[in-house]
Amino acid sequence: MSRLETLLKALRSFYGALPTPPRDPFTLFVWEVLSVHATPRKRDAALAALKRIPAMTPDAMWRAPQKKLEQCVTLAGPYAENRLQALRTGVDLFRRSPNLPSVIRGPLPAARRALKPFPQLGETGAHRMLLFAADHPILPVDARVSRVSRRLGYGDAVDNFKKQSRSVQDALTRELPASVDAYRQAFLYLSHHGGATCTESDPHCVICPLLADCPEGQKRTLHR
Ligand code: SF4
Repeated sequence: MSRLETLLKALRSFYGALPTPPRDPFTLFVWEVLSVHATPRKRDAALAALKRIPAMTPDAMWRAPQKKLEQCVTLAGPYAENRLQALRTGVDLFRRSPNLPSVIRGPLPAARRALKPFPQLGETGAHRMLLFAADHPILPVDARVSRVSRRLGYGDAVDNFKKQSRSVQDALTRELPASVDAYRQAFLYLSHHGGATCTESDPHCVICPLLADCPEGQKRTLHR
C-alpha cells in the first residue's frame, strides 16, 4: 500500500462513508452551480427543492416557472441571479446537445471538447464531471485537495493555481491505482478533509488522523 493509500485509509476510518456527487451529468451540472459559495446543507436543500418542482432534466428546467426556480435556487444562499444565469446557459447547452451524456462517456479528447462550452464548470468542475458522471480516471484537484496535498508533501509550491494543481495531480496519481474508484475516493476524502479539518487559516492538526505523517502538521504542533 502506498503512503497516500495509507493516508486515505486513515481518513476513511476518521470520517466514515461520504456522499458522492450525482452520477447523472445534468444533475451534476446543477449540483456544481449550486455548490459555489454554498454549504453542502444549503446546496442539498436547493437541489431537493428543484427535484420537487420537478426541474431536474434540461427540458423540465426549461419549462419550469421562473418564480419557482428562483425560490429553489435562493435556498442555496447568495448569488441567486448568477446561479440562475449559469443554469439557463447549461439548460440551453444540454438541450442543444442531447447526446452530451454519451459523448462525455466516450473518448477523452471529444469528452473534454464537449465540456468546454460550460464556463461555469471551470477545470475542476469539468474534471469532476469526467470522473463522477463519465467514469474517466481523472483526478480533480480543487483548492482543498491542493492545500491538503501540499501540506502532506505532494506537489510543488507554485504561485499559479493551475500549475500547482497539475503538479499535485501528478504527485497524487503516482501513488494511486489508475482506477475510477481510487480517484473518486481520493478526491472525496482529501476535499472533505480540506473543508472539515485541514482548513486554510487554522487547520485542526491536534485532532487530525494524519498528524503523525504530515510535515506541515508536525511543524505547526511543535510550535504550540
Ligand atoms: S496534520 Fe494539520 S496540516 Fe497536516 S493534514 Fe492534518 S490538519 Fe492538515
